[in-house]
Amino acid sequence: MADTRTRQIKQLLSEINRAGVRNRRVLTAISTVPREAFVRETSLADAWANRALPIEEGQTISQPLIVGLMSQALELEGNERILEIGTGSGYQAAILAELGAEVVTIERYPRLAERARERLEELGYSNVEVVVGDGTLGWPERAPYHGIIVTAAAPHLPRPFEEQLSQVPGSRIVIPIGRADEQELMIYERTKDGLREMSLGPVRFVPLIGQEGWQE
Ligand code: SAM
Repeated sequence: MADTRTRQIKQLLSEINRAGVRNRRVLTAISTVPREAFVRETSLADAWANRALPIEEGQTISQPLIVGLMSQALELEGNERILEIGTGSGYQAAILAELGAEVVTIERYPRLAERARERLEELGYSNVEVVVGDGTLGWPERAPYHGIIVTAAAPHLPRPFEEQLSQVPGSRIVIPIGRADEQELMIYERTKDGLREMSLGPVRFVPLIGQEGWQE
């Protein structure tokens, strides 16, 4: 029911706001993108819960709090070109598009990429390009990127990301790095003197599998 949905959205926003998502534009984007369009039918009742949920190919749609923190960490103002690694359902890409970004998003499973492309098109997100490939190599065709956001866990920062990140100070890579069972959410920010490293705390993501990530 519409009232229940409105109440669930309000509760989610207040929960993630208390947990650190302070950026108004990010909160508005999260309340605008219909998360129910990105989850499986069996998860519809939990679409607005602050939880990661299962999607096809044994993957997940990330927890809204993490989507909020990662989106906020990019400090977008609108019109930036962003590379996302790990399209999954397409939800994070839709949030970035809502924030005004031009998004290139890579997924290694063709079936997930195809579903995400269809969804994003149906919802009218024309500024998102979904491509299939090994995202650990980035996507040099459209580089440089103002931001690179990685929604799967990497053992280390893949070299191509630094190469494909814009030289403009303030450009950022947001990526979970660490062991397979726990990582730290890292921000690498371009400065005049190289990349500055910051941690946003512990997180848990599915593995980034590829040439510059984990082996299958
Ligand atoms: N951002 C997604 C969303 O909003 O639904 C959630 C992503 S899910 C946590 C991680 C995704 O990364 C999975 O769909 C997985 O197949 C993908 N992935 C893992 N390794 C990859 C790689 N090397 N290149 C591209 N995608 C990869």
